[in-house]
Amino acid sequence: MLDYSPTQSLAKHLQKQGRGLRKDDLDEPHILLDLVGNFARHGLPDQEREWSLDGKPKTTRKGEKGQEQIRLCEKCFAAHAPAPACTECGYVYPVQERSIKEIDGELEELDVKGKRRAANQEQAQAQTLADLVELGRKRGYKSPEKWAAHIWTARQAKQNQRMSA
Ligand SMILES: [Zn+2]
Repeated sequence: MLDYSPTQSLAKHLQKQGRGLRKDDLDEPHILLDLVGNFARHGLPDQEREWSLDGKPKTTRKGEKGQEQIRLCEKCFAAHAPAPACTECGYVYPVQERSIKEIDGELEELDVKGKRRAANQEQAQAQTLADLVELGRKRGYKSPEKWAAHIWTARQAKQNQRMSA
């Protein structure tokens, strides 16, 4: 069958192709020649479809309509439903690299690291316990004395370790 009339209607497409797929007494293969891209638009007639009651094919995911309906093998030129390999000759299609989206989160993470480094430097500049308490107060900590004591003790422990090493 030669298909030379393009249609946007899936129903029309399937009706047309179905005619040729009807069982008859002739034991000949039904050859579909699509000259106008109807298969690319609507897929193969024996492809699995999910129907809804309003007569339109269901689209389960957003943008699925725009997805590839048919695959043309670049080796044997067979047309088949989308698959990672040709259903006729077995040619495995090279996997297309997906484009990587840039996410703001990565930049944010770097920013957090930078902030942390700046905070550590600020902390190192607080030489005495009183300086630390002052810093804790400036940062708005709940109990700057407690925080300062914690940092101070940790710093002392580190210094002792360095001295004994
Ligand atoms: Zn092939």
